[in-house]
Amino acid sequence: MIRKFISRVLGRSTPTEAPEPAIIPVDQHGLQRDQISRACRRTIETLQENGYQAYVVGGAVRDLLAGLTPKDFDVATNATPDQVRQSFRRSRIIGRRFQIVHVGMGAETIEVTTFRGHHGDDAGSHGQVDEQGRVLRDNVFGSQSEDAARRDFTVNALYYDPICEHIVDYHHGVADLQQKTLRMIGDPRTRYREDPVRMLRAVRLAAKLGLSIDPAARRPIREMADLIGNVPLSRLFDEMLKLLTSGHAVRCVSQLREEGLHRGLLPLLDVILEHPVGERFVMLALETTDRRVHHGKPVSPGFLFASLLWHEVLAKWDALQQHTGSAATPALFFQAMDEVIEVQAEKLAITRRIAGDMKDIWALQPRFEQRSGKRAYGLLQQPRFKAGYDFLLLRAQAGEVDSEVSTWWTDFLHADDENRALMVVGQAGETPRKRRRRRRSARTAPVEKTD
Ligand code: ATP
Ligand code: MG
Repeated sequence: MIRKFISRVLGRSTPTEAPEPAIIPVDQHGLQRDQISRACRRTIETLQENGYQAYVVGGAVRDLLAGLTPKDFDVATNATPDQVRQSFRRSRIIGRRFQIVHVGMGAETIEVTTFRGHHGDDAGSHGQVDEQGRVLRDNVFGSQSEDAARRDFTVNALYYDPICEHIVDYHHGVADLQQKTLRMIGDPRTRYREDPVRMLRAVRLAAKLGLSIDPAARRPIREMADLIGNVPLSRLFDEMLKLLTSGHAVRCVSQLREEGLHRGLLPLLDVILEHPVGERFVMLALETTDRRVHHGKPVSPGFLFASLLWHEVLAKWDALQQHTGSAATPALFFQAMDEVIEVQAEKLAITRRIAGDMKDIWALQPRFEQRSGKRAYGLLQQPRFKAGYDFLLLRAQAGEVDSEVSTWWTDFLHADDENRALMVVGQAGETPRKRRRRRRSARTAPVEKTD
C-alpha cells in the first residue's frame, strides 16, 4: 500500500499496473523447486540471504508450467546491479544501456536483472520513443509490479520463488496458460507500437506453447505489420533466427502467413512464402530443422539460410543466363550466390560469417556430381563437407537431385578405404558437359569445370 502511495505521488503508476498480485501456492501451480537448476536456486538463495527479493522469471517459469524444458533460467531482483555484483564473487556487470549481471555458478551463468520500471506516459517528451512510438530506451529501475507490467504477455510475467515455492502473478498468467491463451499485458496496439517485435514474439510463443493468441492481441497485427520495417535489422535477424530454430518453424511460418506478417517486412520470408517454386524445398528444410531441434541437435544458421535461399540462387542464376545470353557457367552461379546474399545481407543483417557458410554449402553442390577418384576424395576433405552433404540429402529428398547421387555419397562416406577405392572406379567417365545440360532443365546446380 505504502509503495503504491509513493509511486502514485511520484506519478509512476500506469493503467496496466495490477495493484495486488495473486500469490499462488505450490499445490495450485504444481511447479517443484528441483525443476529449477541448482545454480539458479543458489543465486536466489544468496540474494535473499542478503535481504533482497529474488525470483525466477520469464520464459523459464512459463515453460516449466507448460511442461517444457526451459532454455535457461533468468533471475529478477530488487537489488541494483552493483548490489548483485557485491553479493557474488564470480559476477560481472554487462550491458551499457540497461545493466544486467552475469553470475557464475559452477558451470552455469545466471543472468540477474534488476526490476525494470516503466518508461512512463511522458516517455515521448523525453525523446525515448521514435515517431512511430517505438520505445528506444528502457532503462529505469522499478518495483516488481512495474517490472511485471512492462513484460509483454501475461504468461511471461510470472515470478517463482524457489525457496517458499509460490508464484507471484500480477496479470493472471497462470490462468491464461491453463486456458491456453496468449494475452498481452495492457493495450495490444500500444504495446506493439512500443515494440513491433512483440508481433513476431506472439506468433513464435503461441506456436511453441500451443496457445492461441487472444483476439484482442491478434486483431491489430495485420494492420500494424508495417511497423516491423522500423525495427533495427540486427534485432529482426535475432528474432527470425529464434523463430526458425524454435523447433516449431513450420507452424510459426504458416502462422506468420496467416497473420499477414510475412509480406514486404521480412525479405527472407517474402522469398520463402511468395515463390511457390521453392516452397516444397523450404518446407522440407523447415521440417528437417524442427526435427533436429527436437532431437537436441544443433542447427547452424548458415545451413538454415542456405536452404531457405537456395531457390532464390537458382532463379537468379537462370535470370543471369537469360540476361547475358550465356551458358550456365560456374562464374554465373557464383555471381548469383553473391547477388542473393548481398540483397539479403542488406535487408536482414546476415553476418559475414553466416554468409560465408552459406556460400560454402552452395558452392559444394555441383561438386557432388563429380565422383572421379581424386575429386571424390578431395570433396571428403573439405571442411564444410558434412554440411554440404546434408544439403545434398535435402535436395535429393525434394526430388531435385537423382537419389542415385546422394545414395552414392552416403555409401562412400561410410565405406572403408578398400570399398571407397572400388567405388570411385568407373566414375571418371562422367563428363561435366553432358550432365550440365540434363541438370539445367531440372533446375538444379551447375557443374564447376575444375576443383
Ligand atoms: P524464449 O527464451 O523461449 O525465447 P522468452 O519469453 O524467455 O522466450 P526472452 O527474450 O528470453 O524470451 O525474454 C525473457 C523475458 O523478458 C520474457 O519472458 C518477457 O517477460 C520479457 N521480454 C522479452 N522480450 C520482450 C519484449 N519485446 N517486450 C516485453 N517484454 C519482453
Ligand atoms: Mg528466455
